[in-house]
Amino acid sequence: MRRIRAVIFDLWETLIDWDQAAAATMLDKVRALAGEEFHARWSSSQTRYTAPVRTALAEAGVPAELMDEVCGVRLEYVRHCLVPRPGAVDTLRRLREDGYRVGLITVCSEDVETLWPESEFAGLFDAEVFSNAVALTKPDPRIYLHCCELLGVEPHEAVFVGDGANDELAGARRVGMDAILIHRPGEDPPWPELAQWNGPRVTSIPGVLEVLER
Ligand SMILES: [Mg+2]
Repeated sequence: MRRIRAVIFDLWETLIDWDQAAAATMLDKVRALAGEEFHARWSSSQTRYTAPVRTALAEAGVPAELMDEVCGVRLEYVRHCLVPRPGAVDTLRRLREDGYRVGLITVCSEDVETLWPESEFAGLFDAEVFSNAVALTKPDPRIYLHCCELLGVEPHEAVFVGDGANDELAGARRVGMDAILIHRPGEDPPWPELAQWNGPRVTSIPGVLEVLER
């Protein structure tokens, strides 16, 4: 991948684990506060990824008097999750030392953006695109193009690394980027459409360095 000048990462299940047990615990806590109907509304909410979290929570039925408490439960969960996978920090540093521009595109709630500055990821990226902040999600072409623009590269000069949620790998290719699939070692990719994935794949973040050297 000699022409590549920028590496753009997904967040969940790429740079960090999505802890499903912790997510379930968090949702149970919120449901206990906000009621059963909340859960159904929240599960089908797209606003949670494209608007301020308080706006999305209010739309899903969280009353104003419970908002601070619910937000606190969510922040506690995201803080628990926002921990780099092994080798991620070193790889991000190495990429920049090697002259690559490094970006992030994540479909997330505002909690991630709120906690980002206190996470180990702070300062390791040249551009971070949080879906809630730009009101766009993957695989909308505009979210990839926006990140490339922030990085000062053309899409064909960038490679996207992700687990494939939100059709994000195909989405990256549609705008002219290369794409690298990451999945857990010893497991198949969790998304059926990736069973036939014909591009490069890695099972750890440091593996990205080897793919770039090919
Ligand atoms: Mg992901």
